[in-house]
Amino acid sequence: MTDLPREMNALERLLLNRIKAQGPLTIADYMTECLLHPTLGYYTTREPFGAAGDFITAPEISQMFGEMLGLCLAQTWLDQGTPGPFALAELGPGRGTLMADILRATRRVPGFHDAAQVHLVEASPRMRAAQAGTLGHVWPADRITWHDRVDDLPELPIYLVANEFFDALPIRQFQRTADGFAEVVVGATEDRLTVGLVPAPANPALDVRLADTRAGDVVEICAAAPLIAAQVGQRIADHGGAALILDYGDWRSLGDTLQAMGGQAYASPFARPGEVDLTAHVDFEALVADVPCAHSRLTTQGVFLERLGITARAQALADDLTGPALEDHVAAHRRLTHPQEMGTLFKVVALFPTGAPPPPGLDT
Ligand code: SAH
Repeated sequence: MTDLPREMNALERLLLNRIKAQGPLTIADYMTECLLHPTLGYYTTREPFGAAGDFITAPEISQMFGEMLGLCLAQTWLDQGTPGPFALAELGPGRGTLMADILRATRRVPGFHDAAQVHLVEASPRMRAAQAGTLGHVWPADRITWHDRVDDLPELPIYLVANEFFDALPIRQFQRTADGFAEVVVGATEDRLTVGLVPAPANPALDVRLADTRAGDVVEICAAAPLIAAQVGQRIADHGGAALILDYGDWRSLGDTLQAMGGQAYASPFARPGEVDLTAHVDFEALVADVPCAHSRLTTQGVFLERLGITARAQALADDLTGPALEDHVAAHRRLTHPQEMGTLFKVVALFPTGAPPPPGLDT
């Protein structure tokens, strides 16, 4: 039997031509094209979130997620002496649900909304439009500013959230060999994208991993993550504030974690570029390694949300629910916190000023 001819999509054709002309792509270049190509990228062409989308994120599961994060940031702002004006900021806000829930939950914190300016860092014009739509119901449009890059955030005290943002940043992959590392790259075999290995350039971040890897192990390096965390950390060091960074990953990751999701199921990262979401686990150790402020201990999402009182909030909300709505609500609480759901895989780390206490729910 022969394989049926396979339809190639436009991005696949474009990448194959580029590889034939210029040689293989790093995994980072491949991810960037797949996610953010101006006309064929995943975030630039699709509406990936929610029950009908390719995957569902914590703020889309329940309003309780944003409520807990909002109260955590507001309490930190109170503890730091209510600085104003300040930037209430988010990286990669998706549909804008998390920021909308944060704003609703903090409405009654005296002075918080008066001093807040909302700043959103979002690369995709399509996502920006979705965020404007969601936030239009809860916040004046003239007090929201969008930015392409974290470095464009204002020089103000900053209270920031980033949920499932860092996992979308491009990583490079390296495989341990007998005498060092080789880089995993995307090449072309006939008319297919295929992965291969090329000699890895010298890199101090790889040298340190000689100590804890064996031949065949894969190490991932996200060059952008520590730079972005350091830019946020510099604002916190200079002006005060805090950042809550939530994602899946670990303290020092090991292994191939590049993952594709489409239609709420895992897919091959190389089969239909631009049509599926591509992510990699976050290496939180590398993320915070260079921040010029303090950082909390890495804590699981389940423990963090429990410490902030999500169960009491869940019970209060449950009082008004019956039947399927109550069942959905109970399932949402479980999904956010239970170790076998998002409770343990997802982690949180906070950045905060050196010498200040960490935000509620976290320790050092
Ligand atoms: N935080 C949201 C969405 C997570 S998906 C939630 O929890 O539901 C990742 C988001 O980051 C999307 O909005 C995507 O468009 C944006 N994004 C991805 N890469 C980016 C980059 N390099 N710069 C800015 N935004 C980016």
